[in-house]
Amino acid sequence: MTSLRNLPSVEQLLQTQQAAELVAAYGRPLTLSAIRGALDLVRARVSKRRDATLPDREGLLALAAESLSAWTRPTLLPVINATGVILHTNLGRAPLSAASIAAMDAVSRGYSTLEFDLATGKRGSRLVHAESLLRRLTGAEAAVVVNNNAAAVLLTLSALAARKRVVIARSQLVEIGGGFRVPDVMKQSGAKLVEVGTTNKTRLTDYEDALEEGAALVLRAHQSNFKIVGFTEEPEWKEIVAAAHRAGVPCVDDLGSGALLDTARFGLAHEPTVQESLAAGADVVCFSGDKLLGGPQAGIIVGKADLLAKIKKHPLARAIRADKLCLAALTATLLHYLKDEAEREIPAWRMIAAAPGQVKKRAKAWAAELGQGEVAASRSTVGGGSLPGESLPTFVLSLAVKSPAKFLDGLRLQSPPVIARTENDRILLDPRTVLPEQDGALLVNLMNALRKKSAAV
Ligand SMILES: *Cc1c(COP(=O)(O)O)cnc(C)c1O
Repeated sequence: MTSLRNLPSVEQLLQTQQAAELVAAYGRPLTLSAIRGALDLVRARVSKRRDATLPDREGLLALAAESLSAWTRPTLLPVINATGVILHTNLGRAPLSAASIAAMDAVSRGYSTLEFDLATGKRGSRLVHAESLLRRLTGAEAAVVVNNNAAAVLLTLSALAARKRVVIARSQLVEIGGGFRVPDVMKQSGAKLVEVGTTNKTRLTDYEDALEEGAALVLRAHQSNFKIVGFTEEPEWKEIVAAAHRAGVPCVDDLGSGALLDTARFGLAHEPTVQESLAAGADVVCFSGDKLLGGPQAGIIVGKADLLAKIKKHPLARAIRADKLCLAALTATLLHYLKDEAEREIPAWRMIAAAPGQVKKRAKAWAAELGQGEVAASRSTVGGGSLPGESLPTFVLSLAVKSPAKFLDGLRLQSPPVIARTENDRILLDPRTVLPEQDGALLVNLMNALRKKSAAV
C-alpha cells in the first residue's frame, strides 16, 4: 500500500533547483498552482489505486512543468498557408503589407494622435484618419471605419432603418461564412424585411411595387460565396438605385469584399468595386477591410455625408469603433492604393497578380531542394467571400506519401505549422500563398514531416 505521507510538501518542492527554474520561467503564482495540481493528481491516483507508485520530486516537478507549458502555450500562432486560398478566413484572411505592420508598430509602442488634433492641441476625432483617404479613393463624401463589415451593415441598418421597411431581393438573403445571415442582421437592427422577387428572378417592377408601399431604404447584399446560374434575372444596380431615388429612398450596398482594383485585370471575373457602386448612385456602401482590400479586419462605410452623419451619431458606432492598430494598418493599406502601388505592396494583390510562370519557378525550386515531388498544374482561389467559383491557374508541388491524412496532421504539428491540402491522395502545396520569406521554414518543416513513417511510400 502506498503511503501519501511520503509525498513531499509544496514548500519542499519549491526548494529545489528544478522549481526555481520553473518560477523564473513562469512566475511564482502559476508555478505554485502547477505544483499543487501535480500533488492533487498523485493523491487522486493513489486514492483510486492503493498500490500506485509515488513519483519522486523530479517526477512531480516534471508533471508541474507539463501543465505550465500547456497553460502558457499560445494558441494564436502564425502558420504557413500552402492551400492556395489567398484570403483564407480561417487563417486570418489578408496578410498585411510591410508599411501597415510598421504603422501598427509605431502607434502601439507609445502614444498617438488617435483622438488629438495637433493643430489646435485639442481633442480630435479618430474618424478623420481614414476618412480623407477613403474619400479621395472612392469619391464618397464621407466615411466611417468600424470593427468589421458585419458590424458596418448592422450599424448602417440600425441608424437608417430601425422599425422601418427595408427592401431586398430574395436572392440576396444570404449566409456568409461564420454565421453572418443577412435576414438575421436585418432583424437585429430592428429593420422590417421586405423581400422582393423569387430565388432566381427579380425584376425592377418587384422593387417598384414594394417601394410604392413605402420603405426606409433599399439594400443590396453581394452574393459573396455562391453563384446562381441558369434561369436568372436581376436588374442592374443603377436601375435599382434609380427606382429607389424616384421613390425618395436611399440605397445601401453591402459589397462584402469591396475591391478597389479591378479583378478582371488578373483573368478573374469582375468583382464589383466600391467606386462603381457609388458611381451607380449608391448612397452608402459597406465593405470589409481584410478581404480584397488586403488590410486589417475592419468594416468600412462610405457614402453621402447626411446619411454618414446619422451613422456616426448612432450609439452602436461607439460600441463597434475601430481601434488605433486597425486605423494605423488601414490607413497605410489605403495609401498603397492612392500611390498606385497596391499590386506591388499589398500581399493579397501580389499573390493575385503572381504569374503562373513565377509560381511554377518556386514550386520547381521546392522540388529541387526536397529532392522529391512533382510540379503540377492546379488552381488557386481568392476566397474571403469574393469571386465564388473563380480561380487562378497555378502550379503546385505535388507529393506522394503513404498516408496523406497523417502527413497533413504531421505538417500541422510543425513550427510554424504548414497548412496544405490533398487531391487524389497527393499532398499539394501552392507557392502562391506562401510568403517568399517563409520558403526556408516551409522546406525545413516539409523535410521533417517527410522523415516520419507516414511519409514513406
Ligand atoms: C464577408 C461579408 C460580410 C461580413 O464581413 P466581415 O468583415 O467578415 O464582418 C458581410 N456581407 C457580405 C456580403 C460579405 O461578403
